[in-house]
Amino acid sequence: MSLVIIGSLAFDTIETPFGRKERIIGGSGTYCSLAASFFTQSKIVGVVGEDFPDETIEFLKGKKIDLKGLEVRPGKSFFWEGHYGEDPNKRTTIKTEPNVYEDFRPQLPPDYKKDETVFLANIDPDQQDEILTQVLQPRLIAMDTINLWINQKRDSLLKVLEKVDLYFANDEEVRLLIGEKNLIKAGKKILDRGPSFVVIKKGEHGALVLGKDFVFGVPAHPCEEVIDPTGAGDSFAGGFLGYLDKMNSFDDQSEIRRAAVYGSVLASFVIEDFGINRFNTLTMKEIQDRFDQFRKLVSF
Ligand code: AMP
Repeated sequence: MSLVIIGSLAFDTIETPFGRKERIIGGSGTYCSLAASFFTQSKIVGVVGEDFPDETIEFLKGKKIDLKGLEVRPGKSFFWEGHYGEDPNKRTTIKTEPNVYEDFRPQLPPDYKKDETVFLANIDPDQQDEILTQVLQPRLIAMDTINLWINQKRDSLLKVLEKVDLYFANDEEVRLLIGEKNLIKAGKKILDRGPSFVVIKKGEHGALVLGKDFVFGVPAHPCEEVIDPTGAGDSFAGGFLGYLDKMNSFDDQSEIRRAAVYGSVLASFVIEDFGINRFNTLTMKEIQDRFDQFRKLVSF
């Protein structure tokens, strides 16, 4: 069992009320694969430039992440800059430089094509679609996206949405995509387009999981200090999908609920430090302890 993640590996410059970090390691694929690696074998499909540090490659390999699908190309790695104010749920994208992602045609290594859980993390929807033509017998396909693609490539995005089983989005993205303010109504409209589940992330207010005749609300861990919210969404997806892949269970509602709690737990850790730093020390015991705290948080 494994989780194939098609996403970005990037340099990020991030400014939050806790400081500014220049060109630290980020990327949707990086965060998701690290979070999922606590539960299952993560496999990354992506591209980096020759400037991407060897230490990061070694760090990912040290976490037993399979990098057969990672290309190294002449040129510069993906770069993104984002700023956050006092409200960690609101961020402003200052710059996006796709660089080697500009003309990336993702290729699945032959042994990634069968029996996989697939996550189309945030990249160009045309690149996400390209991958869907290559997977043979996926057990579950999930996707994520951001406002940029909803605004710039709406039709391509809607085409991908029809082909996936699970869609991760935040509240703002769902409203933008569907044009409906009420999240339950918006979520149902997404389900009508094809996915069996939609996970609507609401930052520090937790997440809603909607399925046909199924709604589950998971809180966010009550963090006192959010140092850097970057990667929370991708880590949520990594925890969620990594857990489901490990359990080999994709429609049992109890497992979906547990997966959502693991997603929320992983997101709550990553925001405690800048970039992927928290993954340097994070242990399965800490994850399990916080999972148990969630039980206490919602029990009444
Ligand atoms: P999240 O905070 O979970 O939405 O993920 C943030 C990560 O997404 C950052 O590390 C960025 O490098 C990456 N990212 C931002 N914009 C894009 C984009 N257009 N395509 C791919 N990855 C992106």
